[in-house]
Amino acid sequence: MKELKILYLYPDILELYGDFGNIQVLKYRLEKRGINCIIEEYTIGDLEPNFCEYDLIFAGGGADQEQSILAKDLIHYKDNIRKAIDNNVFFLLICGAYQLFGKYYKDVDGNIIPGLEVFDYYTEAINDRKKRCIGNIVIDVTLNDLNTKVIGFENHGGQTFNISSPFGNVLYGNGNKFGDTQEGFFKDNVIGTYLHGPLLSKNPELADYIIKYCLDRKYNENIILENLDDKFENLCREQLFNQFLSRHN
Ligand code: GLN
Repeated sequence: MKELKILYLYPDILELYGDFGNIQVLKYRLEKRGINCIIEEYTIGDLEPNFCEYDLIFAGGGADQEQSILAKDLIHYKDNIRKAIDNNVFFLLICGAYQLFGKYYKDVDGNIIPGLEVFDYYTEAINDRKKRCIGNIVIDVTLNDLNTKVIGFENHGGQTFNISSPFGNVLYGNGNKFGDTQEGFFKDNVIGTYLHGPLLSKNPELADYIIKYCLDRKYNENIILENLDDKFENLCREQLFNQFLSRHN
């Protein structure tokens, strides 16, 4: 039986707006296809994980305070995480976690939370505590040869700069900064995004893209995933696109 192993980082600290739902969606879509899914968790105080042992690493969002607590712990694993990225382990990083893989996060009071510096982007909170990028967001994304729309919910004060390769182009909402045309970061086996939601429940194509990537890498083959019945997901997407995009078309 095929199997994927997922590491969920800081589930007790980084979990906003249903981020855990992303893991549940992956597990559901794997099991529906007869593929086993093992989920392991790591948080502060646990034994050091071997990041290269996993097929997928997931981390969600968190407020500034939580980010500053866990950043001190995360930094110990910088080399291991870099090794896993180089080994093509897939990373899905939402909001606060996305920010922490860059150079730094500067909070609203000017405090710097050092990032892992595995990528060159950096994030600075806007000077006004009351101003945040909040709301639904739709982006245009290319996954291999599939062009699709990804929908989610963003809530961040942080403005992310110096993105070399974005996850998508913004069709509705803000993105990496207020009024940005670009959202997130996407390079090979790493997706960093501001989209909560949970992201994967609203975007089954993205969930399957990640699943296929992980299976192909692990089993060294070009797996054709069995189609699942996404009727309700697609109806939901249609409704949301009608609501958010019709005014802009
Ligand atoms: N603390 C970060 C910000 O406000 C991340 C928030 C989040 O993860 N939703 O920019």
